[in-house]
Amino acid sequence: MTAPTPASGRVLVVGATGFIGRFITEASIEAGRQTYVLVRPGSSSPSKANTVETLQKKGAIVLRGLINDRSLVESILREHEIEIVISAVGGGDILDQLTLVEAIKAVGTVKRFLPSEFGHDLDRADPVEPGLTMYKEKREVRQLIEEHRLPYTYICCNSIASWPYYDNRHPSEVLPPLDQFQIYGDGTVKAYFVAGTDIGKFTMKTVDDDRTLNKSVHFRPPSNMYNMNELAALWEKKLGRTLPRVTVTEDDLLAVAAENCIPQSIVASFTHDIFIKGCQVNFSVDGPNEVEVGSLYPEETFRTLDECFNEFAARVSKKVNPKGEVAAQNPMMEVIAIAATCS
Ligand code: NDP
Repeated sequence: MTAPTPASGRVLVVGATGFIGRFITEASIEAGRQTYVLVRPGSSSPSKANTVETLQKKGAIVLRGLINDRSLVESILREHEIEIVISAVGGGDILDQLTLVEAIKAVGTVKRFLPSEFGHDLDRADPVEPGLTMYKEKREVRQLIEEHRLPYTYICCNSIASWPYYDNRHPSEVLPPLDQFQIYGDGTVKAYFVAGTDIGKFTMKTVDDDRTLNKSVHFRPPSNMYNMNELAALWEKKLGRTLPRVTVTEDDLLAVAAENCIPQSIVASFTHDIFIKGCQVNFSVDGPNEVEVGSLYPEETFRTLDECFNEFAARVSKKVNPKGEVAAQNPMMEVIAIAATCS
């Protein structure tokens, strides 16, 4: 039996030092693709420098620059014969992609562009402000892509696998609660939770798949569809004890959104859309321009949320019994920010 041929098609990832971008970049390298990353000059924090170094060691080719520097991006696309461009710029920089789109159009050789979406279906989801402004900006990018007739794929991967804190934009970097659960509304509205590594892996599968050309790809793993009550029960099983629950009402979430503190208020508005209005589950994926990722790659499995929570539990206490319950609990441990994510 011959070894599988590495995937062809050179990839440029923008935003590789970010939360989602890193998963994408690692998956691209893992898929055997020649992977270039455009890193903002002056990204000087030690953790970002560390990420760049790690990606470089894994095989990424590091280029420096900004996507809003059109002539630079055009020359990169030409010189390195880039066929696939994936953007994972953060919510505050969405409109920087307009220049990137113009550069891709001018060069004319990119076979697929994936803009920075990695969340909900922008045509359907309808968060309150300030989340709405981010969606309007993402829609503006979509509009320009489609006006220019660029080949695209939109990734609607839903929520990252973690406890969905309403005030933390990267919740998988934080342990699930150890003192009490905050349950949104009555806790019965479901959502989909996807491990960061699976966001990367499945995104990379779509990038040269004819079936995803000019389509929105929805990530809906049935094993990872949970509501807040079920999520709390899962975590209690891992902890081996119950925690008190307090209700965060719809009005509470709207009040945090209305404070307009960025990014917390944006996250609160999305939390409201997900866990009160049901924006991830209140429609079927059956339109002509959309497809569910599980139906495309039925042979591929998703990491289950149960596995991801085992990993969080192992961080709480190294002693996880065979049932996946935490054997010993450190009562002093609070919810803490952790550098590693559930991958
Ligand atoms: P981050 O803020 O973590 O990272 C953004 C990245 O983009 C950084 O690498 C940053 O560089 C880079 N960047 C920003 N502007 C430019 C520019 N002009 N030129 C070059 N590079 C630039 O982003 P996130 O990972 O949080 O967000 C990425 C996408 O994923 C967004 O669309 C967001 O809405 C979505 N998302 C989805 C989540 C989910 O649960 N489904 C969770 C979080 C985000 P630098 O290192 O210099 O800052």
